[in-house]
Amino acid sequence: MNKIQFNINKITRENVQGLKPYSSARDEYVSDGSEMIFLDANENPFENGVNRYPDPQQRSLKAILAEQKGVSTSNMLLGNGSDEVLDLLFRAFCEPKIDSIITLPPTYGMYKVLANINNIDEKEVLLTKNFEPNVSEILQAVDETTKIIFLCSPNNPTGNSFSEDSIIKILESFQGLVVIDEAYIDFSSKDSWINKISMYPNLIITQTLSKAYGMAGIRLGLCYASEEIIGVLNKIKPPYNVNELTQQRALERLENVSLVKKEVASILMERERMITFLKEVNFVKEVYETDANFVLIKVDDANTRYDQLLENGIVIRNRTTQPLCENTLRLTVGTKEENKKLVEILKQL
Ligand SMILES: *Cc1c(COP(=O)(O)O)cnc(C)c1O
Repeated sequence: MNKIQFNINKITRENVQGLKPYSSARDEYVSDGSEMIFLDANENPFENGVNRYPDPQQRSLKAILAEQKGVSTSNMLLGNGSDEVLDLLFRAFCEPKIDSIITLPPTYGMYKVLANINNIDEKEVLLTKNFEPNVSEILQAVDETTKIIFLCSPNNPTGNSFSEDSIIKILESFQGLVVIDEAYIDFSSKDSWINKISMYPNLIITQTLSKAYGMAGIRLGLCYASEEIIGVLNKIKPPYNVNELTQQRALERLENVSLVKKEVASILMERERMITFLKEVNFVKEVYETDANFVLIKVDDANTRYDQLLENGIVIRNRTTQPLCENTLRLTVGTKEENKKLVEILKQL
């Protein structure tokens, strides 16, 4: 397999290459720790914890992430949820009405929505019956307008991780960007692709604090890629895209990462109990392999079962309209008590 010739300038939008980013007060003067009087940003000087603009480069947060993830801070960009990070990718690399991207349904719905918002053509190449990327069809679908291929692994809503061989083949054969969305990586038995960013100049990893880290409410998305790619994204990101409260809460959580690991371990234990039980329910036809904090199941009639659970006070996700997902339901693993309640109700149905 030939290593691809990746050229960042060839795939970056012309207006982005040429633009000069907004320089904020906090960009121009970077504190060296000494006591200073800040009269540069037209802030209210009376301290209340959030009267100052947040650090536009989120230095403290990146420092602890660098340590925990084993990645340099120059390979990192943080955003207002992964959704903002993904949107920045469109705005940096995809020319509206001209460029295109490839997604692999059934998958996370935001890629398509963001493509539509940015007026980018979205080509869909279905996963195989085993929910693996159809590599030959993907590569056939690539043309000179294709800028990004979105891989979600572990995939939402199917739950499985994609095979390493397939991912490598795509990375090595495609001259555009390959995004691996690792929103569920902390629940996975497979390794993150983070430490491969130095090997593949076209690889972008996104992660989030919304799932395993239990912080969906603060909105923090993470992006890891080559310094070149991060450099382009930094040019176009809003200066204060990660607010002060988010930075503070994320920092507290990351400083206590052993608690996160304990919660993940407990969720994984519950997941296994849930899977064992689900396999015994008579209207459950299939329980799919999962590497995430949810389980996709095929039932006799998804709409009926969904309504029955709702009537009993349990909200799950009906995925029956998704391709390859006829009569499937997606169940998030809850607390022990919540899962017990789910089991009791399923037994009664
Ligand atoms: C939940 C989820 C995300 C998280 O998005 P945030 O904006 O960070 O909350 C990203 N990708 C996938 C596939 C998800 O399921």
